[in-house]
Amino acid sequence: MKMCIACGMPMTQIGDYPLYDISKNYCKYCAHTDGTMKLFDEKLAELTAHYIKIHRMDDIIAKQTAYVILKKLPAWKRK
Ligand SMILES: [Zn+2]
Repeated sequence: MKMCIACGMPMTQIGDYPLYDISKNYCKYCAHTDGTMKLFDEKLAELTAHYIKIHRMDDIIAKQTAYVILKKLPAWKRK
């Protein structure tokens, strides 16, 4: 089983892959509609918005948390 390199989600079904392409290392949530991987800034903005909404976090704290979490993932480690 693969794990998405950009968000850490386990990809257990073909439907988890972008455009059902199992050669990809990232999930459909981390892909644009054309199947290319989203950029770090896009994932950061998404995750920040998610934390603010779900956990009712402060904007700055949410962004810091999202940054730390994303940085641990293989896709963003070197940036
Ligand atoms: Zn993902």
